[in-house]
Amino acid sequence: MTTPILSIEDLTDLVAAIFESRGMALADARTVAGVVVAAERDGARSHGLQRMPGYVSSMDCGWVDARAEPRVEQRTPSLLAADAGNGFAQIALARAWDQLAQLARQNGTAVLTIRNAHHFAALWPDVEPFAATGFIALAAVNSRSLMTAWDGTRKVLGTNPVAFACPRPGAPPLVWDQASSTMSQGDVLLHRAAGKPLPPGAGIDRAGQATTEPAAVLDGGALLPFAGAKGGSIAFMVEILTAAFGGGTFGFEDGGAALPGAATSLSNQFLLLLDPAAAGATAFGARVEALLAAIKAGGSRRMPGERRYAARARAATAGIPVEAAVLDELRAFCGTGAPRASR
Ligand code: NDP
Repeated sequence: MTTPILSIEDLTDLVAAIFESRGMALADARTVAGVVVAAERDGARSHGLQRMPGYVSSMDCGWVDARAEPRVEQRTPSLLAADAGNGFAQIALARAWDQLAQLARQNGTAVLTIRNAHHFAALWPDVEPFAATGFIALAAVNSRSLMTAWDGTRKVLGTNPVAFACPRPGAPPLVWDQASSTMSQGDVLLHRAAGKPLPPGAGIDRAGQATTEPAAVLDGGALLPFAGAKGGSIAFMVEILTAAFGGGTFGFEDGGAALPGAATSLSNQFLLLLDPAAAGATAFGARVEALLAAIKAGGSRRMPGERRYAARARAATAGIPVEAAVLDELRAFCGTGAPRASR
């Protein structure tokens, strides 16, 4: 049987219709659908369509408020603090986007914190558009506890990703985006679905013993930080920037595990913009290119983000393959919306 192919527009319409069916406003539904489809389009499948059952069950059980209206408050000349109202973080970011960019242009730097939010997606869609307009952008998100801390044997910290985007003259931004764990939970889910073992060193089981079995990691076990203590340190920093500084919950305080259907993390986001022009860095673009040329001369064959950009170009012409069973499931979700009160 051939795999159905959908255009980016058609898939976005379908995914947005699922969010709308749960009571989300059309513009917000297209915002959240946009990040899901962008991940699928760019070959970042750990955070693409496989996440839709989790989005849906989190809304249907009342863990996420699909109708949430975020509030954005300016705390200082360069600090915005948003409360997502227990909705998806990307909606709060969309509300704050213009003001954040304006503050960064005025002040040379601006920070946005988002608390009381759910972030179930890849992080690069949050930073890449800022870099496409000339800003250096750094973002971090905390998730519910999935990972050990320094030498720990139980999950305490989130897999807390950090994403960085750097503008380039005449080229798409250079963007990297990585979890604090050796692999994201989304990749563990893909391994479980494919019946594949995890690479050694990815996780431990509920007894704290090393395992390559995805189910053992997901069922009471834990992921391990990348590069040992170093990944634990990055995840700690993310908890401080997002939850302590932003006024939200730490990963270990997320109560979703006790609520059947609550798949998304109650998380918090930190986003920093820097304007190279405001800092007087007139040769910034040329300096970035000089560094990248030196890196390539050093033997690096690909830059972070290039794999995604290549997949994006392919999808723009060839569309996005969606397995028939997944397509059936998405269509079924559209018809089963049952908006519920928030938790
Ligand atoms: P990967 O390990 O797949 O990739 C990390 C980064 O390294 C990417 O920017 C990737 O670029 C780059 N990279 C990989 N291989 C190379 C190479 N050979 N040369 C140059 N660059 C390379 O990502 P993770 O598994 O750590 O994370 C996957 C996703 O999970 C992220 O998008 C992250 O935001 C998301 N996540 C989300 C969470 C949430 O709560 N919302 C929690 C944890 C993770 P490229 O993209 O081009 O492959």
